[in-house]
Amino acid sequence: MLKKILIANRGEIALRVIRACRELGIETLAVYSEADEQSIHCQVADDAICIGPAASSESYLKADRILSAAELANVDAIHPGYGFLSENADFAEQCESCNIKFIGPSSNTIRIMGDKALARETVKAAKVPTVPGSAGAIQDDKEALKLAKEIGFPVIIKAVSGGGGRGMRVAHNAVAFQREFESARNEAEKAFGDASVYVEKFIQDPRHIEFQILADEHGKIVHLGERDCSVQRRHQKVIEEAPSPFLSSDLRRKMGRAAVKAAEAANYQNAGTIEFLVDKNGDFYFIEMNTRIQVEHPVTEIVTGIDLIKKQIQIASGEPLGIEQKQVRISGKHAIECRICAEDPSRNFAPSPGEIKLYFPPGGPGVRVDSHVYSGYPVPPHYDSMIGKLITYGETREEAIVHMNRALKEYLIRGINTNIPFLQAIVSDPVFRQGQTTTRYVEEFLARTP
Ligand code: ADP
Repeated sequence: MLKKILIANRGEIALRVIRACRELGIETLAVYSEADEQSIHCQVADDAICIGPAASSESYLKADRILSAAELANVDAIHPGYGFLSENADFAEQCESCNIKFIGPSSNTIRIMGDKALARETVKAAKVPTVPGSAGAIQDDKEALKLAKEIGFPVIIKAVSGGGGRGMRVAHNAVAFQREFESARNEAEKAFGDASVYVEKFIQDPRHIEFQILADEHGKIVHLGERDCSVQRRHQKVIEEAPSPFLSSDLRRKMGRAAVKAAEAANYQNAGTIEFLVDKNGDFYFIEMNTRIQVEHPVTEIVTGIDLIKKQIQIASGEPLGIEQKQVRISGKHAIECRICAEDPSRNFAPSPGEIKLYFPPGGPGVRVDSHVYSGYPVPPHYDSMIGKLITYGETREEAIVHMNRALKEYLIRGINTNIPFLQAIVSDPVFRQGQTTTRYVEEFLARTP
């Protein structure tokens, strides 16, 4: 088993990883920016090292500083969490060459799956259905337009290196396509330092359903069922749940098998997620693989009873998975997660950093809160606005929703604005309650609610 792990992240996920390490008897080293000196993750870790100023580009994204800290403290592994360097193939490769275990797949797998066009081709070759679209990145605008016409409008132009719901443009006709193709390339260059884009069919009103994969270093790959992440705002997830209220057991089996095939095609190791879009007819299409732990992993932990972070660490230690696909049991529980963000829903969800004057998280039956904040905590303006995750669960979806409604009402966060009122409105909405949400739902919901 690994003995000492550096957690190359901040916030709730840093705390989550430290919790798993502690329960496994593993020593932890936190790293932090100057803005995070007072953060809980620094206080609960066995040790902590400052890696630079507040800006992520000067701290949490500085691979060389993180590696120096790792060498200085003699750690044997790095857990990257999500975001920051978690899907950076160069960083994983640097870890490999320093003989520090990167807790995730190999740098080679990250490189393949991090190029969304290459990822599509890789899983397509393994007969996993993908959205009809270009074979790889496409440079030339005339060629792209010709292809878009062949695919049939609407189409979506996506950055090859995209992520976080950014770098995507929908075009409904040829005129719009020419304009959007150019701006997508410019936007991709600015956001990701890579102008490459690809084009695929825009699926109308789909559900986003993803499968959790676990793969050990001895060739064993299983899936842990799905998460439905259709409640999204601007292509970013807001509420996730497991199991999906939409999937029949037959479709679940088919998609699960496809997810495992996709992971096999990538030579996958450790925890990962295969994301699909599913249309009204139940046809499903691979869109991408995330080669890291996801924000929404707790809903899977609740329905399977498997601690995903511990599994990541055990796999990285070389342990066999010890689970056969047929042993994976979805317990009959239903789990829902709401992302709690420091943002102001009445001002178009503008970030709302500042000091939290009073913090009281909900508790009681069916509630789990993963958060690093507390009364007096200054939410820094430099990072993602998510300040915690509220997960509720019950024997049925209805019960999980009852707990969620109650927990959201109980959740006190004073001093800053949060999206809690917005989440309350969604959770009370009949469309959500009936499990009828598609990826267009939030947009429709906002249009019909004053
Ligand atoms: P990112 O890596 O930025 O999260 P994804 O490829 O995972 O991007 O897509 C994010 C979301 O964008 C999806 O969940 C879905 O809502 C929307 N989306 C992506 N591709 C398509 C598509 N071909 N048709 C319709 N919606 C899409």
